[in-house]
Amino acid sequence: MHPRWLSHKDLKDFIDPLQGAGLSALEFELDDRLDSWNESLLLIKAAVELGLELSFHAPFREPHSLVGFAGNLRGSLEQKFHPLLEIAETWARRTEKMSTLVVHAAVSQPPADPHTLVADTIAFLHWVIETFPHLRLALENNHPSIMGEIKVGVQRSEVLDIANNFPSASLGICWDMGHDYLRHQQDEPPPEWYSRITHVHLHDVDHNDNDHYPLVLGNVPYQPWLQKLEQVGMKGIVVLELKGERLKDWSKDQIREALVGSIKTIAREVIK
Ligand SMILES: [Zn+2]
Repeated sequence: MHPRWLSHKDLKDFIDPLQGAGLSALEFELDDRLDSWNESLLLIKAAVELGLELSFHAPFREPHSLVGFAGNLRGSLEQKFHPLLEIAETWARRTEKMSTLVVHAAVSQPPADPHTLVADTIAFLHWVIETFPHLRLALENNHPSIMGEIKVGVQRSEVLDIANNFPSASLGICWDMGHDYLRHQQDEPPPEWYSRITHVHLHDVDHNDNDHYPLVLGNVPYQPWLQKLEQVGMKGIVVLELKGERLKDWSKDQIREALVGSIKTIAREVIK
C-alpha cells in the first residue's frame, strides 16, 4: 500500500473487492521521506480498523542505510531507524499480533567489501531483534545489482548464510520471487530455502526486466514455488508488491481487474 495511490478515506472502497478476492493483510513501507508520509500513518490506522493484518517494510532508501552499522556509524544509524521501526512495534503491540518487518541486506556504492556489508547486516538484525520484540524479521533476497552497486543477499545461498546466524524463531526469509527471477538462473531452491521462508513478495517482471507488475505477464514462475511453500506448511503472508508507476497509463477498471485477478490467483495457490 502506498499513500500516493489513495487517501485513507477511500481505503474501504478500494479494499472491498480485494478482500472479496482473498486479501487479508497490507504491507506498508516505513519511510518518513515518502511524499504524503502522514497519509501513510492514517492508512495504517484505517487498515487495522478494516480488520486487515499489517506487515512492514523497513526503510531502505538514503539516509536509511545499513552500511557502517557494525562500525562507528552504529549510533547515528540507530537514531535514524529507531522512530520508524517503533511505529511498527507500537502497532504490533496494540493489535497484540507480531508484525513482520522485511529487511534488505546492506547495499553500497563502491568501494565496499561484501564481507563488511554482511557484518553490517547481521549487526543491524541483532539490534532489531533485541530492541523490537513484537517484530518478526524477514530478510529479503535483494534485487540484483544495478549500475555498479555492491550488494549482498542477492543469491539464495547468501541470504541463507546471513539467516543462519539467527534462530528461525527470530528471523525468517522474505522470498521476493520477482527479484529471484531477475537473477536469470533457473536453479531450483534447496529444501533449506523453503523451510526458512516466512514471508513472500510477489510481482511480475516484463521482458525489459522491469519488476513490480501485477501477475499479468506470466514470466515469474510463482505457481510451483507457491505450491511448494503450501506443501511445506509456510504460514506467512504472500504480498503482491507493486510499483504504482507501472500502472500509470492503466484505466481504473484495468487496475481493479489486475489486482483482483492477482489476489485470486495467489489465494488459489496458498489458501487450501
Ligand atoms: Zn520485495
